[in-house]
Amino acid sequence: MPTKILPSAKAAKNYPLLIKQIFASAGRFEPDNKISYRGEAEFSYDEFRQRVQQLANTLKAAGVEAGDTVAVMDWDSHRYLECYFAIPMLGAVLHHVNIRLSPEQIAYTMNHAEDKLVLAHDDFIPLVQQIQDHLTTVDGYIRLTDTSNSETVGEIDFIGEYEALLRTQEPICEFPDFDENSIATTFYTTGTTGNPKGVYFSHRQLVLHTMNMATTLGSYEGLPLLRSDSVYMPITPMFHVHAWGVPYVAVMLNCTQIYPGRYEPDLLVRLIRDHKVTVSHCVPTILQMLLACETGQKTRLDNWKILIGGSALPQGLAQAAIDKGADIYSAYGMSETCPLLTVTHLNKEQRSLPMAQQLKYRTLTGVPVNFVDLTISEPDGSLAVHDGRAVGEITVQAPWLTQGYFKEDQKQEELWQGGRLHTGDVASIHENGFVEIKDRIKDVIKTGGEWLSSIELENLISQHPDVAAVAVVGVPDEKWGERPFAMVVPKQPELTQATLQQHLQQYVESGHLSKWAIPDEIQMVDDIPKTSVGKINKKEIRAQLSH
Ligand code: AMP
Repeated sequence: MPTKILPSAKAAKNYPLLIKQIFASAGRFEPDNKISYRGEAEFSYDEFRQRVQQLANTLKAAGVEAGDTVAVMDWDSHRYLECYFAIPMLGAVLHHVNIRLSPEQIAYTMNHAEDKLVLAHDDFIPLVQQIQDHLTTVDGYIRLTDTSNSETVGEIDFIGEYEALLRTQEPICEFPDFDENSIATTFYTTGTTGNPKGVYFSHRQLVLHTMNMATTLGSYEGLPLLRSDSVYMPITPMFHVHAWGVPYVAVMLNCTQIYPGRYEPDLLVRLIRDHKVTVSHCVPTILQMLLACETGQKTRLDNWKILIGGSALPQGLAQAAIDKGADIYSAYGMSETCPLLTVTHLNKEQRSLPMAQQLKYRTLTGVPVNFVDLTISEPDGSLAVHDGRAVGEITVQAPWLTQGYFKEDQKQEELWQGGRLHTGDVASIHENGFVEIKDRIKDVIKTGGEWLSSIELENLISQHPDVAAVAVVGVPDEKWGERPFAMVVPKQPELTQATLQQHLQQYVESGHLSKWAIPDEIQMVDDIPKTSVGKINKKEIRAQLSH
């Protein structure tokens, strides 16, 4: 039987879900809250609204039209937040350039995305100079600067400097209505091989993601992160998956917001302390850097709630943050998913447990958020049971998943095989609904026919009190197929391989770990290689080991 659809009034009009509707809420509820940049500049919500409109008029004057792509190369700033709104609200596409990729890869992504105009911070001018002759679609540049010098610099023919251009424009801009499925944003994700792949998100997807995230982070006792009186500072780059989408939520809720510019651990901790930041999000390696830096060692983090995602949160690191007073939660998602898929939610019973017992829930990857249909499936496609032991690949459906990879027909069919998005992550689901990511499919270590999770091993090693950071990868082995190899940043120089092997032995004895899982080699290092977004770079570690 077909469903019943009633005819609409002739004059009735569809109301598209557009980013301009999030913008309309900016400052409506808490006009006195401010948006600040590194503690150096501060803007009221009124000013923010005006500046976004001035920016939109600036972009129009520079020739930007609906359907054009505009690239931004900046650290986390109030300017970037203005771009989050002005560019898509004109119907143009915001390309968040991953400025941590190699110059060749950046040029590739900018040509592939067909960028027309580029907004570039002074720090990236040498990079732009290096690649500009290879950029085939760009016809204009706008300079972003933190200095008072508004003269253009270098060999780039800038249209002008951001602040100076904004000053020439009216603070009023009529943003048009258009199809809610129009693309609003794009950015590139790097795989193990081949060129970076472009993902893209529509207005409708970003609005739904924002509304859902506001409920997820604001309405449940088990996850009290973000409300209008929160002081929010992102520590996930704004070029990476919309800084997890939180800036859109923070604007909708009218939060006080601090944008920290380039990430410098001591400055970040000072901003948290001086601006009384109540909520941030970052990857585990950044949290570890914040705790280890000079200011971090001396600073309590009592009113700070931190959402960790992007990689598994080792229990040792979570404990170190808790010891400083921080309230810690985990989330899971990926570039392809906008990103939010799951987040820690502690129910009444779990919240009443002593912190030592809560830790295991806080470091699992949480439960799927509303509107996310997440399952784990065996290689033959059948569903794995939710008993905390059976593992399978996570596949998802949700209203905010990239519908493909830009101009990559084959790869997008693989991503969406069978009508669900394949994450490439292996997980189990516990009876209480908590998802436990075991590994990326490509990072699982297969040793002597056994299957070993590099994440699990990292977690156990991290619990030794003298371990600051750890990464585990599989290395080829003639006899066993693969053997685990660990890289450890010690807190104490005296820490040895034998001590850590002994530490792991206790988990073997208690039945938590197979005896084959103890690495034969544990290397002490000063630093662990990181990816462009600050995660442990296992590809790089494997490459180093193969030389
Ligand atoms: P990216 O697209 O760079 O954001 O990377 C997404 C990948 O990071 C996912 O597919 C997971 O492998 C990993 N990831 C993200 N969040 C978590 C988490 N909470 N625990 C474990 N792995 C995670």
